[in-house]
Amino acid sequence: MNQVYISHYSEIGLKGKNRSYFVKVLRRNMKMALRRALPGKSFEIEHRDKRFILTFSEAVDQALVGQALSQVFGLANFSPVTVTEPKLDAMEAAAVELYKGHSFETFAIRTKRAYKGFPFTSPDINHRLGGAVVDAYGKRADLKNPQLPCYVEVLKDKAFVTVGKTQGPGGLPVSSSGRVLVLMSGGFDSPVAAYFAMKRGAQCEFIHFHSYPFTQKTSQEKVERLVNVLTKFQFRARLYMVPFAETQKEIVLNVPEKFRVIFYRRFMMRVAEALANKQNLKAIYTGESLGQVASQTLENMAAVQQAISMPVLRPLIGLDKNEIIDIARKIGTHDISALPHDDACTRFMPDFPVIRAKMEQVLEAEQALDVEALVERDLSKIDVIDV
Ligand code: ATP
Ligand code: MG
Repeated sequence: MNQVYISHYSEIGLKGKNRSYFVKVLRRNMKMALRRALPGKSFEIEHRDKRFILTFSEAVDQALVGQALSQVFGLANFSPVTVTEPKLDAMEAAAVELYKGHSFETFAIRTKRAYKGFPFTSPDINHRLGGAVVDAYGKRADLKNPQLPCYVEVLKDKAFVTVGKTQGPGGLPVSSSGRVLVLMSGGFDSPVAAYFAMKRGAQCEFIHFHSYPFTQKTSQEKVERLVNVLTKFQFRARLYMVPFAETQKEIVLNVPEKFRVIFYRRFMMRVAEALANKQNLKAIYTGESLGQVASQTLENMAAVQQAISMPVLRPLIGLDKNEIIDIARKIGTHDISALPHDDACTRFMPDFPVIRAKMEQVLEAEQALDVEALVERDLSKIDVIDV
């Protein structure tokens, strides 16, 4: 037996001429998510009248479909539907039948006609089906705040009827906005930053700087696991591992201690920018949040940003740590981020890092370093992992 779902999108509906492009990317992303969740099941996705009609040629596990679609950015909602002929009787019978399996006190019928040539208006249809549900179950219609609404969509050659609807994740389809490079550190923040990038349609690649062999491999393992979790939103990802210990050593030996972290970051940015340019990635994302730690003051972020010209985007800038941690729980990165690791920046941490770096002093201190050579060397040692 066929199983049919209807799914609507939100914002991409507003994109005018670009819509067909967004629809194409969204449909491809739905396909990938469904193939992964339901291997071997065959289905078709039709785009019609500003909605997707997803048809499985056999019965499928609704929980798996729901899980897959709830990870596809761009979808506003989705629901399994009963398909009927575009006739009042048939729609009425479907609505009554659908309510059978549910306990509810109040309900409402909400009709949308994609086909305006249908001989009854939406209020007509609401009225007729609503009457039938009252007759069948003796429940009350509550148009403002129904416990269990029934949605009816009328097309020219068929109608869809469903009870309840699942919210999709919203946002824009991954990769419709372009590709970016996320600085991933293994903590709570950067995976959440990547999630926000993906939510707005960016396809992420990831870069991690580690101090192995001076530290253990825990940060690398964590980052790889985090990227793996994040692929649920974008299907595959590339992770660049940069051995950073040598550069850190140069920084420790040659610049005043209080500036260390700022220089670690300036070099991370330079390596990231060079790599991004080479790979045609358009922006750098970090998990910084204003004032969260010493390196995230306005002055210090400026001192780091100054090293490169590529835009650095910081989607967490206005979030509190507990808000970030809540999102990390929701997206499934929390427990991995919570594992202990020693990361590249806590290594040789100064006791008193500068809080408000002065740009002239930073630039002057940097004279002691052979910037180009260090960046070149880091770039030449990058390992690539495809997750
Ligand atoms: P997170 O929770 O992401 O580790 P944090 O609160 O520890 O962040 P910082 O250590 O100051 O904050 O790092 C700020 C941002 O700089 C991180 O969110 C990440 O984008 C980037 N970053 C820090 N360390 C690294 C690293 N070793 N490799 C790649 N990026 C890093
Ligand atoms: Mg960190």
